[in-house]
Amino acid sequence: MKIMTNYSNAIKGLLGLLKGLKITGVEFFKPQLTIHYPRKEVTNLATYRGHIDLVAKEDAPLEPKCIICGKCAEVCPSACISMEMHVKGEQSFASPAECRTITVGHGIEIPFSGLRLPPAEVIERELDSFNLDYNYCSLCGLCVQICPVGSLTFSKDSYLAGTARKNFEFDLLQRLRERSRRSSQTTTAQEKR
Ligand code: SF4
Ligand code: SF4
Repeated sequence: MKIMTNYSNAIKGLLGLLKGLKITGVEFFKPQLTIHYPRKEVTNLATYRGHIDLVAKEDAPLEPKCIICGKCAEVCPSACISMEMHVKGEQSFASPAECRTITVGHGIEIPFSGLRLPPAEVIERELDSFNLDYNYCSLCGLCVQICPVGSLTFSKDSYLAGTARKNFEFDLLQRLRERSRRSSQTTTAQEKR
């Protein structure tokens, strides 16, 4: 009787093993879903949400559409956006001591040069830097939604990596300009061919 029970258990075990091997075999021959990075990179990034990025003006690729209203900094729940700017026609502030600041919410202050102000109706502000601390960003998208001029979008930067928090503190203005320069160099090189 004991021998019969042992045989029955062995057959059940074997059937279980074959079932498992069948599943492994089917999955093994299915088309691969992952890729071998860095030999290959994913290309289906249409719906991918990377960190936020500034959008350039159509007629001036080195300049963002941003009108420096501060709404994005104000709405950000993680307080990870800040910007610096100066009034057009003035020198960019020489030192923090020379600047006044505008509070735009969540304790964030935008440096504001109050020296030699032109008349109010002709004041034009220029962006000096647009800072994102991506370490704290939750990718909620509120900043992108609230921007009145469509100056923010999600990047397709899916391969960000770094060894320190500093690696994820970005000046988005600088990144926009570098991107535009790279893209114009690529276009020029293609035209020469
Ligand atoms: S996506 Fe959300 S958390 Fe990230 S910067 Fe924009 S508002 Fe802040
Ligand atoms: S909400 Fe848009 S326009 Fe206003 S500061 Fe932010 S990026 Fe610039």
